Amino acid sequence: MTTISNLLEFAEEGEWDGKYMIVQCRKALSPSKLPGIDHALNPYGGCEHGCLYCYAPEVTYTEWDEWTDVRVKAGIESRLGKELMSVKGTIGIGTTTDPYQPAEERFQLTRKCLVKLKERKRRIHVHTKSDLILRDLPILQGTDGEVAVTITTLDERISKIIEPGAPGPARRVDTLTKLTAAGLDTYALVGPVLSILEGHEREFVESITSTGTKRMYLDSLNDRHLLTKRMDAINIKGSQKAKEIIRSLATANGIKVFDVF
Ligand code: SF4
Repeated sequence: MTTISNLLEFAEEGEWDGKYMIVQCRKALSPSKLPGIDHALNPYGGCEHGCLYCYAPEVTYTEWDEWTDVRVKAGIESRLGKELMSVKGTIGIGTTTDPYQPAEERFQLTRKCLVKLKERKRRIHVHTKSDLILRDLPILQGTDGEVAVTITTLDERISKIIEPGAPGPARRVDTLTKLTAAGLDTYALVGPVLSILEGHEREFVESITSTGTKRMYLDSLNDRHLLTKRMDAINIKGSQKAKEIIRSLATANGIKVFDVF
């Protein structure tokens, strides 16, 4: 839902194009403290995937009911080109929003930025839940970096509730399989590890193992107040128990397992 105050704020800084607010990008990169990432690149503000466990709205001071009102940062690829002249290190694509959310199909900002990063031979880290990334496989091949696909459950119905705008689990497993088979350095991000995985750990790990990826990162449910309220309302919690079982099963299958922080 878009509030009047949100509409007024957007009206001052950009213009609507259908369901999207187009804003001129003033800065492409921001310093990042995430492990292994020096600068964050987010071509979109807000995220249409609308995952209930997402803590990015609180990190970016965005109201939850405005989080799926996406702002499109027009011109980000040319800003990026200028900023890369004075910036070193790994660029993390999609640190606070998914770079392959539905808006990308139309605006292709992530794709344009990838082209720029490849030309400049920069190391990248891409993180997504979407099979739209497969469109850019030819660009990703030959680019220095790694690609992560988030998978939190194999249950399509539960995924529709907790990640309503994102592609379902089967598409994500298939995406990770194709990215890995194409020779990219991939990993599965199981984040957050939720109580819905309890009793399904073996099936879950077998599915991830079948993708061919050799790494897995485990993340815990963030305890920020508002997302905790959303998850409590559907009685889904973080699960340390599922996390440890997944760690042990995945390790036995030859997958290297890491904690996100
Ligand atoms: S895909 Fe990531 S950024 Fe987008 S809503 Fe889900 S958790 Fe948040």
